[in-house]
Amino acid sequence: MITGYITHPDCQLHHMGPEHPESPLRLEAIRARLSLAGVLQQTMQSESRAATSEELARVHPRQHLDALDKCLPEHGIVTLDSDTLMNPDTLCAASVAAGAVIRGVDQVYRGQADNVFCAVRPPGHHAEATDAMGFCFYNNVAVGAAHARHKYGARRVAILDFDVHQCNGTIDIFKGDPDILICTSFQYPFYPWRYLRSEWQNVVNTPLAEGTDGAAFRRAIEDDWLPALHAFKPDLVMLSAGFDAHREDVMADLCLEDEDYHWVTRLAMEIAALYADNRLVSVLEGGYHLESLGRSVEAHVKALLGQPFAH
Ligand SMILES: [Zn+2]
Repeated sequence: MITGYITHPDCQLHHMGPEHPESPLRLEAIRARLSLAGVLQQTMQSESRAATSEELARVHPRQHLDALDKCLPEHGIVTLDSDTLMNPDTLCAASVAAGAVIRGVDQVYRGQADNVFCAVRPPGHHAEATDAMGFCFYNNVAVGAAHARHKYGARRVAILDFDVHQCNGTIDIFKGDPDILICTSFQYPFYPWRYLRSEWQNVVNTPLAEGTDGAAFRRAIEDDWLPALHAFKPDLVMLSAGFDAHREDVMADLCLEDEDYHWVTRLAMEIAALYADNRLVSVLEGGYHLESLGRSVEAHVKALLGQPFAH
């Protein structure tokens, strides 16, 4: 497998203050762990580019994009909601984060890579069409899915989200769209407190009770996601890869282990192999405990490379 690894130094310019868990340290921890493990060196590394306003406007109305531009401070930090803040470089970082997914889609459709991991921040899956929230500004995975449809004629895109939080933003953007399948596992009841009980036919919700461990997570994914994915037959698989359901992550109370991320990645790859000529693009969402984040991403990227999980 050729696995692309896409990031950009500008992702690190965005910060929301020294106490905020969604910090530049996250990408540093990932890079350090992958380098130390010798995994990064086995990927095809490339740099993202900024998404254009046309590319963003496929999922966010221009009025909303203009309103976000107007919020950008010249100095200091402004608060959009209690946990979503902007510094002068926030939208620069958000643009290259969304642009990474676009580049990842380009790489898998041009045959340059089988699959891709985008190591970017800010994350995107809480960003609704007209609402920045939950540490998210632009919905990176949605921008990538829209690009795949527009540029490559992708007909059925599956978006699998195993972050501990439900992807309200991705659902808001694609709800009711029969050509996008969204499968999302999440602690329930929990943030984002919206869309949790949505009845949209193209959304598979997998709510998990506090304390759910890896074995129960795997059963739930197999029961809920696999039948939907086999019926849908995606020609592109995208992952909203959040690692905050890890046992060591105090953001929430699920109990996944490093190996569970290898397992769920393999499951997604099997679907991509069956229906999508292996095309799979993964983008980082949450994950706030730096050590378990590094190890979990290592397990994820090893799976993408076709390697077994091993410590
Ligand atoms: Zn999360």
